Amino acid sequence: MTIPVPEFGLVLLIGPSGGGKSTFARRHFRPTEVLSSDAFRAVVRDDERDQAASADAFEVLHLACAKRLAAGRLTVIDATNVRPAARRPLLDLARRYHAQAVGVVFDLPPEECHARNARRYADRPFGPEVTRRQADDLARSLPHLREEGLRRVTVFRTAEEADAAAVVRHRLPPDRRRDPGPFDIVGDVHGCLAELLALLEKLGYTVRRTAGGWDVGHLAGRRPVFVGDLCDRGPDTPGVFRVVMDLWDRGAALCVPGNHDDKLLRWLRGRPVKLTHGLDRSAAQFEAAGEALAARVRDFLGRLPTHLVLDGGRLVVAHAGLPAEMHGRVSGRVRAFALYGDTAGGAAAAGPPARRDWAAGYRGRAAVVYGHTPAADPGWVNRCLCLDTGCVFGGRLTALRWPEGELVSVPAGGAYAETSRPVRREAVPSEPDA
Ligand code: GDP
Ligand code: MG
Repeated sequence: MTIPVPEFGLVLLIGPSGGGKSTFARRHFRPTEVLSSDAFRAVVRDDERDQAASADAFEVLHLACAKRLAAGRLTVIDATNVRPAARRPLLDLARRYHAQAVGVVFDLPPEECHARNARRYADRPFGPEVTRRQADDLARSLPHLREEGLRRVTVFRTAEEADAAAVVRHRLPPDRRRDPGPFDIVGDVHGCLAELLALLEKLGYTVRRTAGGWDVGHLAGRRPVFVGDLCDRGPDTPGVFRVVMDLWDRGAALCVPGNHDDKLLRWLRGRPVKLTHGLDRSAAQFEAAGEALAARVRDFLGRLPTHLVLDGGRLVVAHAGLPAEMHGRVSGRVRAFALYGDTAGGAAAAGPPARRDWAAGYRGRAAVVYGHTPAADPGWVNRCLCLDTGCVFGGRLTALRWPEGELVSVPAGGAYAETSRPVRREAVPSEPDA
C-alpha cells in the first residue's frame, strides 16, 4: 500500500496508544516534521506520560503546528487524535494556512494496543480500559473523518498493514519551481487570435498557417505562459484555444485559468451559466467549431493548476494575482483569489464586484505577474505586474519576457467589445526589484 502525501500538508496520525503511530512516524518522516504529544509533554513537564501536562503540551504543539504550516512545511501530528475535539483545532490550522490534510488511521484491536503498552510501560502500566475507550472514540469518528476536512484517509487494520505501507510524497500542481524558464508571459487574450499570433511572432516564435489552423514553432529555450482569460468577447476564441493547446500538449507552453475560462468550462460541462460578459460570443463560436474541440478544451481547462510558482519560487503567475501567503498552496480560497481576485465580496452594489488593490499591500519576495484588470500602462507595483492591457477593448496585447523584464506588445486590430469599467492607469512604473 502506498500513501500519497503532499510535499506541503498536514498529516494526522490517528489511533489508540500503542497502535504504532510513533513507529510509523519515525520510519517515514524526518524527526523535525513530526510533532508528537509525548514529546511536548516532556517539553513542558520532563515527563512524556504526565497526562496533567496535556493542556500545556497541546497548546505548544498547536503553536508549533501553526508556525510550520505558515512556513509551508509538511507537518505530521503524532497524537491519538481519536476525538473530534482533538482534531478540530489542527484541521482549522490546515484550513487557515491552505494545507491539505490527510489522515493515517491505526484501527488495531485495543487489546493488542494494550498488550504493547503493557510491555513498553511495565513500570507504570495503565489499565486496558484506556485503549478500549480510545478505540471506541475512533470507531465513532471513522465515518466522519472525510467530512471534517481530511482529503484522504488511510486505515490500517493490522500491524502488518502498517509495516508494509510506503509513503510517497507528491508535488502540488502549482509547484513548478524547478522550471527556470525563460518565459514569455502573455496577458489576457480574450479570443484575439490575430493579435496573439502577431505577439508571438514579435517575440520570435515562428507562426505558420496549416490546414487545421496555425502552427506556432518552438523558440529555442523559451515558452509562453498564459495568464488566463483566453476566451470571451473577442472574434476567435476557439482559434486561440487551438494555438495554446497545441503548444501546451507539446510541453511548449504553460497556462493558468482565468475567471472567464472557468465560466466557459462550466458552460462546456453543461452547467447552468448566464451567457453574459462575452460568453455568449464564445458559446456561438464553440457551437460552430464542433464537439471535438469543445471536448478538448473541457479536458484542457480541467487540468490547469490554479496558479504557477516558477523559477525557483522567484515568479508566480496567477490570473488575478495572489498574496504571498497563498503561493504554491491549494485550497478553495486560493483558487477563488487566483481566478476572481480580491473581491470585496457580496452583491453590495449592482454591477461587477469591487476589486481591491491587493498589490498595494503585497510584501512577498516573488514577482507576481497577472492579468484580469485592464490597465492602460503596465507598471510594477511592489513586485506585482498586471499584463492585461485591454486588447479586446481596443488596447494592446502585452507579454513580459522573464527573467529579462522586457515588455513586448502589439496593438489591437480593433475594439471587439465595450468595457463596463474604466481602464485603470497604473501607478508610476518601477522595476520588479524596486
Ligand atoms: P503509538 O503509541 O501509537 O505511538 O505506538 P508506538 O509506535 O509507540 O508503538 C507502541 C509499541 O508497540 C512500541 O513499544 C513499539 O515498539 C511497538 N510496536 C510498534 N509497531 C509494532 C509492530 O508492528 N509489531 C509489534 N509487535 N510491536 C510494535
Ligand atoms: Mg506514540
